[in-house]
Amino acid sequence: MAKEKPRKALQELLQRPGNQLCADCSAPDPDWASHTLGVFICLNCSGIHRNIPHVSKVKSVRLDSWDDAQVEFMATNGNNVAKARYESKIPPFYYKPTFPDCQLLREQWIRAKYERKEFIYTEKQEPYSAGYREGLLWKRGRDNGQFLNRKFVLSEREGALKYFNKNDAKEPKAIMKIEHLNATFQPSKIGNPHGLQITYLKDNSTRNIFVYHDDGKETVDWFNAIRAARFHYLQVAFPGASDVDLVPKLSRNYLKEGYMEKTGPKQTEGFKKRWFTMDDRRLMYFKDPLDAFARGEVFIGSKENSYKVLEGLPPSTQGNHWQYGITIVTPDRKFLFACETESDQQEWITAFQKVISRPMLPQEYAVEAHFKHKP
Ligand SMILES: [Zn+2]
Repeated sequence: MAKEKPRKALQELLQRPGNQLCADCSAPDPDWASHTLGVFICLNCSGIHRNIPHVSKVKSVRLDSWDDAQVEFMATNGNNVAKARYESKIPPFYYKPTFPDCQLLREQWIRAKYERKEFIYTEKQEPYSAGYREGLLWKRGRDNGQFLNRKFVLSEREGALKYFNKNDAKEPKAIMKIEHLNATFQPSKIGNPHGLQITYLKDNSTRNIFVYHDDGKETVDWFNAIRAARFHYLQVAFPGASDVDLVPKLSRNYLKEGYMEKTGPKQTEGFKKRWFTMDDRRLMYFKDPLDAFARGEVFIGSKENSYKVLEGLPPSTQGNHWQYGITIVTPDRKFLFACETESDQQEWITAFQKVISRPMLPQEYAVEAHFKHKP
């Protein structure tokens, strides 16, 4: 058990600015510490630090015993000093994970900072800063679900990510424009701890591809290279916009995903179970979570434009369906959904309300117009 004096000193250090959040994932009230790096971290991150023992040695602030020299080291360092050292040259587009993110992102962030020291030595940032990247990724086959090794090329000059079905192929199998590209880690959905979902727009409908690399660093390098390409694209597209405005647009996590039941436009053909993805204002549905493209999409505008979400279904609703209904009212029609549980229903309603309560941006009217012309 910790002796009284060091324990009290450490408790005081935890109150200092910067030490109240985990140095690596910003979780509140860290109560672990790396006494070789001089940072206070959460239990989760301390587990990752244990995997790099040549760089970091961890102790519990409350449960382990500390000697005076170790406490002194923590006092002269701490999270703000470590940030100034290990995060000094972090590119603005680089994704900084927080505690809700997947294990891969949090682990690679810790390794990039302390083990590889990527943000001290900028030459180590070349894999995601050069504006060009090529390499092999395991890509899920569109229809058979088999992962095959495919060559990918990300070129900022061409403004595109491409992949090739054969290594010596001249013509790419697909060209995905950086303008419409989104990348998001989806390990559980893809069934691989490094699983990355890349979506792009083709003829205004969303396409999905699912990839991973066996090496965690390579996978996260691809992700940050895509973010870099998006950043440089947006800097040109929106001159004068600040980094703070652009960085949240580099990649989007989905507001919510999961199964619901839906009816067709006439609401007479019964409810069918579909996988739904809420990507900003686009509610997409798929037969299977790993489908290459959406069966359909519903655009959800703002309340000013007559979009509404209601709990429950109209009294006239027929057929068997899950118990917890949601009705989305758009200027054109009503969409009926049914959720299996009440908590699902409430989470979906919260996600829909989030976009409905936000005024529409000029470019979102163009997306809405496209959906209105659909049957
Ligand atoms: Zn943490």
